[in-house]
Amino acid sequence: MESYLAELNDAQRAPVLQKDGPMIVIAGAGSGKTRVLTFRIAYLMEQGVDPFNILSLTFTNKAAREMKQRIAKIVGNSEAKNLWMGTFHSVFAKILRFEADKLGYPSNFTIYDTQDSQSVIRAIIKDFRLDKDVYKYKQVYSRISSYKNSLITVKAYFQNPELQEADAMSKKPRLGEIYKEYVERCFKAGAMDFDDLLLKTNELLNRFPDVLQKYQNRFRYILVDEYQDTNHSQYLIVRALSDKFQNICVVGDDAQSIYAFRGANINNILNFQKDYEDVQMYRLEQNYRSTRNIVNAANSIIDKNKTKLEKVVWTANDDGPKIIVNRLLTDGEEGRYVASSIFENKMQNQLNNGDFAILYRTNAQSRAMEDALRKKDIPYRIYGGLSFYQRKEIKDVLAYLRLILNPKDEEALKRVINYPARGIGATTLDRLSIAANEHGRSIFEVIENLNNLNLSINRGTQTKLENFVNMIKSFAILNQTSDAFQVAETVTRKTGLVQELKKDGTPEGIARIENIEELLNGIRDFVEGQKELADATGSLSEFLEDVALATDMDKDTSDEDRVALMTIHLAKGLEFPYVYIVGMEEDLFPSAMSMNTRSELEEERRLFYVALTRAETQAYLTYTQSRYRWGKLVDAEPSRFIEEIDDQYLDMMVPQDDYKYKPLINTDIFGDEVDKSKLRQQKPANGTPPPSHKPSDEQLRKLRKLKPAANEPAKARNTIELSQGDEVEHMRFGKGKVLSLEGVGQDRKAEIDFQQGGIKKLLLRFAKLKVL
Ligand code: ATP
Ligand code: MG
Repeated sequence: MESYLAELNDAQRAPVLQKDGPMIVIAGAGSGKTRVLTFRIAYLMEQGVDPFNILSLTFTNKAAREMKQRIAKIVGNSEAKNLWMGTFHSVFAKILRFEADKLGYPSNFTIYDTQDSQSVIRAIIKDFRLDKDVYKYKQVYSRISSYKNSLITVKAYFQNPELQEADAMSKKPRLGEIYKEYVERCFKAGAMDFDDLLLKTNELLNRFPDVLQKYQNRFRYILVDEYQDTNHSQYLIVRALSDKFQNICVVGDDAQSIYAFRGANINNILNFQKDYEDVQMYRLEQNYRSTRNIVNAANSIIDKNKTKLEKVVWTANDDGPKIIVNRLLTDGEEGRYVASSIFENKMQNQLNNGDFAILYRTNAQSRAMEDALRKKDIPYRIYGGLSFYQRKEIKDVLAYLRLILNPKDEEALKRVINYPARGIGATTLDRLSIAANEHGRSIFEVIENLNNLNLSINRGTQTKLENFVNMIKSFAILNQTSDAFQVAETVTRKTGLVQELKKDGTPEGIARIENIEELLNGIRDFVEGQKELADATGSLSEFLEDVALATDMDKDTSDEDRVALMTIHLAKGLEFPYVYIVGMEEDLFPSAMSMNTRSELEEERRLFYVALTRAETQAYLTYTQSRYRWGKLVDAEPSRFIEEIDDQYLDMMVPQDDYKYKPLINTDIFGDEVDKSKLRQQKPANGTPPPSHKPSDEQLRKLRKLKPAANEPAKARNTIELSQGDEVEHMRFGKGKVLSLEGVGQDRKAEIDFQQGGIKKLLLRFAKLKVL
C-alpha cells in the first residue's frame, strides 16, 4: 500500500479509494474529514486524473494552501500546482474573469468589499432622500445580500409580491428600488460584490450551456469541505458543475453548521442523497484530535439538540485533564486569568504561543484579552475585526491600484480623487457625478471629455482633474510592463500619499507610513511567490484579486509565534492544543439575539460544539459575574451550556451551585416577560454517558502506532534537521542557503538567504522547507 494510505484508518480509506461516483462523508469533529479530502485528491492524481480536472472547494484559502502543500509532498510540487483549489469566491472569481464579457462585464472587473458595497448603499439612501434611521445601510446591505444568495434577482424581486410586502411591512417599501439602483451602480462601475461572484456564476452556467459544458468537462472531480455551511447559491453551482460526471465528494458535519444566519442551508447536506443517484455514504467515527474528556464532553452537549443526524464519535486518545471552568469578577479579571494561565502553561509544559487559542462569541470581547496579553508581553494575533487591508491608509493605496486596472471603479475614484488634497472639492465631484449619470458614463470618462461637456467647472479645476486622470493613465502604462510591486511602489511615491503622512508627523501618521511599508513588503513577497507558479506573473491584477478575496484566516504569516484570538465562527476547521472559551454567559453565549426559537438556540449550541472540539489537550471555560453590556454593568449569569456538560468531564474552580440556574423572570429583546427556566432543557437523569464505542484491540494497536499520546504537551510538527550551508527550497521564497541556526526543539530557527526573497529568519516548525 502507498505509504500515505497507511496514515488513514479503514473507514477513512474507503472514500479515498472510491474513485468515481457521488459520495458524502458525514462525521463529527476531528475525525479526519479534511484529511480524507486531501488524500483523496492525491490518490486521484496517482490514478492518472489530471490535476486540471480536479476542483476542490474549501472554507478558507489558507486551508486550500495547506492541503496543496500536503498533496505536493505526495505527488510532487509541479503537479500539485495545477490543482484548482480555494474558496468558492476565489475559484469562481477566476472563472468569471475568463467569461466576464458574456455577462457584459470587463474582465478586469473590480471586486467590491463589504465596505465598498455599504458605501454605495449609503449614497443611494442619501440620493433617494430616505430616512437613514429607517433605512439603515447595514441592514439594507444584508437584505440585498440575502436576496442575492437565494438567487432572487431584481427582476425576480419585482415579480414576487410577498417579498415586496415583507419589506413594506418592515417599513422599507423602497427596498426593491434601492436594490435595483445598487445593482445598476455596481454594473456601471464594472464591479461585482462578494455575492455577485456566486450569483453571476450561476447566471453564467444557466444562460450559456456551452460554458456550462466546458466547466463540467474541465472539473470532472469535485470535492467540497465544510459542506454543511454552503448556501443555496453555492449549492446550485456545485450541482450544475457535477451534473455530467457526478464525481462529487462532499464532507461535512451537520453538528457544525453555524452559518445559517448568513444563508447556509443545512438541507444541502441532508438532501444530498436525493440529489444524486447511487450516493455512497461514509461515516467516520474516530476522533484523532482531542482527549477523551473533550470528545465526550462535546458529545454530551450536541446530544441536547433535537435536529441532528445520529452520529458516534469516540477516541482512542487518553482521557486527558478535565475541562477547567472558572468564574471571574469582571472581563478585566477574565483577561488576566487567561493571560496568566497561558503564561503558566507555557512555562510548565514548554509550549509555544501558537499552541494557544482564545475563542469568543463576539469580536468586542477581544479587547480585555488583548490588554491582559500585552501586559504580560505575550504576542498575539487577532483574526477578524478590522483587518490590515481595511485600514484607511491601505485602502487608499489599494484604491489607486484598483483605479489603474478599472478606471470605472467609482468607489475607488471617490476615495482618492482628492486625496492627498489636490483642490478638487465636493461640489465638483457632485457635478461630475450628475454628468456621469446623465450620459451613462463613468466619472473618469466624463473627466476625459471635459472639453466637450459644458459643466461649469472653472479652468483651474479642470486642469487639476486632467492632471489626475493623466497620472492614473501613466500608472496604467507602467502597469503594462511591470509587476504589482513596481507599480505599487511608484504609486506611493508619485501620488504624494507618503509625503502627506510624513507632513502629518503624529505617531498615528508614522504608524500609517509603516503600514504602507508593510503593504509594499507584502506585495513584494506576493510577487515573488506568484512568479514561481506556472500560470502567474505577479501582476497587479493577480495581487488585487488575492487581496479582495483573502479571508480573515488568510493573512496568517506562518513564521510568527502568536496566541490566536478569534471568534468561534472563524475557528471552524482549526485545532489548537490549548483552547480558552471566554464569556460563557447567558445572553452572550448563547447570544441574546439567538434564543427566541429552538432552531436559533440549537445553532448556538452547535457553535459551542465547534468551539470545544477545537481543543486537542485542554479546554478552559470562563465566565464573569458582571460585565459591561450596552454601556451598563450588568449581572451575568453562567451560560446554560456549562450546565449541559456532564459534570464528570469538568473541573469546577467555582462552588458547585454557582453555575446552576435559578429560575429567573427576565424580559426578551421585545420587552416581553419570559420565564427563562422554560427555555432551558433538563439535564438527563444521572448524567447518562454519551455514546462511546470501544475500539477493538486490533484497532487500538494500530492507533497507538499512529498517534503519539495526546497529553504530550506540544505537538511535534514535522521539524526538519538542517545544518549551516544546507541548500533549501521554500514554497514562496524559492531556493536559499542556510546561514545560521538557533534555538532548540519547537523554537529552532534558521536564518536563510533566499535567492529571491533575501535573508529571512524562519521558525522551522512552521516553515515548510525542502532540503535540496
Ligand atoms: P473538523 O470537523 O474540525 O473540520 P476534520 O474531521 O476535518 O475536523 P481533520 O482536521 O482532518 O478532521 O483531522 C483532525 C486531526 O486528526 C488532524 O490533526 C489530523 O491530522 C488528525 N488525523 C486524522 N486522521 C488521522 C489518522 N488516521 N491518524 C492520525 N491522525 C489523524
Ligand atoms: Mg475539517
